Amino acid sequence: MYLAEITFKILKDSNQEKQEELIENINASWAGNGQILDDCYHYAKAKKEYKMYQTIPEKDSLTDKYNNKYAKEFIEKLSSVGLAKPEITIIDNEEQEDDLCKCTEKTEFILYTTFETFHSPIRCKKCFKAIPLYKIPKLDNFNDDYYPINSWAKDYKACDSLQINCSVGVRFALKQMGSIDSQLTKVGLELCRDIEKLTGRDTYYYLYKYSAKSKKQELLRKCPKCGGKWLLDKPLHDIFDFECKKCKLLSNIGWDKR
Ligand SMILES: [Zn+2]
Ligand SMILES: [Zn+2]
Repeated sequence: MYLAEITFKILKDSNQEKQEELIENINASWAGNGQILDDCYHYAKAKKEYKMYQTIPEKDSLTDKYNNKYAKEFIEKLSSVGLAKPEITIIDNEEQEDDLCKCTEKTEFILYTTFETFHSPIRCKKCFKAIPLYKIPKLDNFNDDYYPINSWAKDYKACDSLQINCSVGVRFALKQMGSIDSQLTKVGLELCRDIEKLTGRDTYYYLYKYSAKSKKQELLRKCPKCGGKWLLDKPLHDIFDFECKKCKLLSNIGWDKR
């Protein structure tokens, strides 16, 4: 991840509301396309420019080659409201921790996120590092972005926050995250199948399990979809104790008994 300083120079004074609206639209397009990692944004207007700071996955995430058709259109319109095209400066130019997948072969994917994950919810199953959304084909042709993935990830993070906070809606959240027939799982599984169709890569879905009766009982657990054996000899990425290759599902021994 890198921190980018984004500057929109003011070429001539114009309607401020229109300028801000365009900047917001560009941001929303970048967020929907996975080019910036947080869809919240704050910008400051100085005398001759607007400035904002955003976390981006790669140094070149905001270059034109990754912009979707809407970002391109909005950027073209900037001159009509007296703004120059955005100037991007990477603030911390040091090589950041290597948090993106660099595997060269066609690996499998896992749809995975947590309440504190900034990165794309598409992980490489081999190295468990993230893959920026803009590196896979678009899931929403109409919006030219990844709305279905972003929307699932937001719902998943909301459930994960509920269960971490342990105050409100914990049972609801755990059911959504762990049950094969919850609405969250249903949407997630459909997404996995869509990602497979678009990328040709098998995509696994993770069923989170927190509380269990006993470790012994956990070890006897079967795949909730096909009823087959799925206990792994050793955990994958220190998280997944179960894997069903047939149903492309992953899970863990209940965390409180693990
Ligand atoms: Zn990888
Ligand atoms: Zn199965």
